[in-house]
Amino acid sequence: MKVELLRVTEGGISLVADASKVSGVSSTRGAEEIIALNTDNDYSSVLEHIYFTFDISEISVALSRELLEHRIASHTARSTRYIEEKGFGYYIPEELEREGAAAAIYRDAMASTNAAYTKLRELGIAREQARYVLPLALHTHYVVTMNVRSLINFFMLRLCVRAAPEIRALAMHMYKICMDEYPLIFSSVWCRGFTLGVCPENEVRPKECPFKGILPKKHEIKVKFERHAKRIIEKELAT
Ligand SMILES: Cc1cc2nc3c(=O)[nH]c(=O)nc-3n(C[C@H](O)[C@H](O)[C@H](O)COP(=O)(O)OP(=O)(O)OC[C@H]3O[C@@H](n4cnc5c(N)ncnc54)[C@H](O)[C@@H]3O)c2cc1C
Repeated sequence: MKVELLRVTEGGISLVADASKVSGVSSTRGAEEIIALNTDNDYSSVLEHIYFTFDISEISVALSRELLEHRIASHTARSTRYIEEKGFGYYIPEELEREGAAAAIYRDAMASTNAAYTKLRELGIAREQARYVLPLALHTHYVVTMNVRSLINFFMLRLCVRAAPEIRALAMHMYKICMDEYPLIFSSVWCRGFTLGVCPENEVRPKECPFKGILPKKHEIKVKFERHAKRIIEKELAT
């Protein structure tokens, strides 16, 4: 997997601070203080003024489908209709690669798919038809642009240990780039549990979660106030 930063909005901190002042934040406040105000209180719409564009290559088509689930982004992917895939590269999951026999079956399947695709092309079959034999493991190339608000949402979901390993690895690469550019914003961001101070995953949190012992579950927090809060809501509805 290769991840490179193609573009990033320059001067984003002062841009966000200036935009926040338009919305009524005191003009005496400094840019760093305003960023903290926005991130701590989740006044996230001003963060939409900062954009990142990433060039992502040597990822699987399976991962590119997961990436496409993030709708608040602009996506461009390598075309299997217009670009030749003879001798394609592919993703192999790390755990599977360690299993000798399973890795051999996997590699054989890739080799025979490669051979089938090549034969179809040699028979004069158009790329747009031959491509249907290509696997989800096929390497693809991707360009994605996301604003900071959407990136925060992406990191909260995909840095979680429950995310699939390949997209978690991608999120890690992208996060490091974002931290290099805007540490003031991204240092308060990680998975949902860390960012929100409470984990919404509840019982499904696996043992691999590094915060399991220190972050409360959403259930644990909610149970403390829910009955009382529901009575308040009933009162509100009755007025
Ligand atoms: C661990 C894990 C497992 C997953 N498993 C599955 C699965 O089994 N099947 C599957 O299909 N997906 C699965 N997903 C993908 C997931 O359901 C989301 O589609 C994906 O994470 C994108 O998140 P998002 O909608 O918040 O992001 P975006 O699409 O970027 O949206 C950002 C935010 O904008 C708002 N928004 C966007 N579009 C709408 C809309 N139409 N209406 C209202 N609000 C909107 C929401 O607040 C949303 O959070 C999984 C994700 C994770 C992290």
